[in-house]
Amino acid sequence: MNILVTGGAGYIGSHVVEELQKSGFIPIVYDNFSTGHAAAVSEDVQLVEGDIHDTVFAKHIMEQFEIDAVIHFAASSLVGESMENPAKYYFNNVEGSLHLFEAMRGAGVDKIVFSSTAAVYGEPENIPITEDSKLQPTNVYGRSKLVIEGMLADYDMAYDMHYVALRYFNAAGASFNRNIGEDHSPETHLIPLILKTAQGVRKHVSIFGTDYPTNDGTCVRDYIHVCDLAVAHVLALEHLLKGGTSRVYNLGSENGFSVREIIKSAKKVTTIDFPVVEEQRRPGDPAVLIASSNKIRQELGWTPVHSSVDTIIGTAWKWHKDHPQGYES
Ligand code: UDP
Repeated sequence: MNILVTGGAGYIGSHVVEELQKSGFIPIVYDNFSTGHAAAVSEDVQLVEGDIHDTVFAKHIMEQFEIDAVIHFAASSLVGESMENPAKYYFNNVEGSLHLFEAMRGAGVDKIVFSSTAAVYGEPENIPITEDSKLQPTNVYGRSKLVIEGMLADYDMAYDMHYVALRYFNAAGASFNRNIGEDHSPETHLIPLILKTAQGVRKHVSIFGTDYPTNDGTCVRDYIHVCDLAVAHVLALEHLLKGGTSRVYNLGSENGFSVREIIKSAKKVTTIDFPVVEEQRRPGDPAVLIASSNKIRQELGWTPVHSSVDTIIGTAWKWHKDHPQGYES
């Protein structure tokens, strides 16, 4: 089966491409390299440089490679940037997705796995967060993904395009093969920032807020290993290919860790006592985000197996040590 992976040269996309190959699928990566890295795509994977806005070209590629289904990662994903430049997020994420869905319709491709986010929930009313929780994103990035989920539901209703939307909590870690990992520019995520500090690439780790109503005053998040996420995408794809109906699932480990706990684990795993500075809260950060992943566990049999914090940080640490400058190393 041939699977078009938009944004397959990005962090989560490249790990899903690896998992697709392991599972016997043929991934075709479609990426415009605005943030992706050609080096993240293995040499034996077909790589197409293209933009999701280009409906004509995307349709042509879907027909040329006889695509059976799409996994759609291509998006802008920086929360802070989304607040300063919402136009970029509505253009790249919402409008880009619309053009991609039109290309799919034109090419007769009617199955899609969509990369969504826990940011669609905003400040949660209950923990753990279930899929039927209120959807009230507090940032433009989350709102753009929620709009796309709505578009998918409408395309399903009107055109029978079936989808699985996967709402990720905090993706982290790196492939066990040590060949691909997280390389964002600019980097804003906690674990890579911690490891760059342990390496001496950055001077200190900032803790954003120590006065949250949590056990140690710092924010609690649900960290999920990127390889566990990758397996969920293959299960979602298989569900659609078997004729399954559209679904929305959370993907988290169901365990919460505070910023201080992550720093403590990183000091243990790296055996480096790097400097830490306490700072003000970062605007828009909810105190606690923990998923219920019960729905995908029950319906698709997904079980995260690599998502202990030590394994997440251990695999990410190996990647960072091998690639101190990311893919440019
Ligand atoms: N965080 C922090 N210092 C940093 C980056 C992040 O204290 O340099 C905190 C952030 O406030 C949040 C958690 O770490 O509570 C995870 O942040 P990240 O940006 O990795 O993911 P998010 O939860 O925003 O998707």
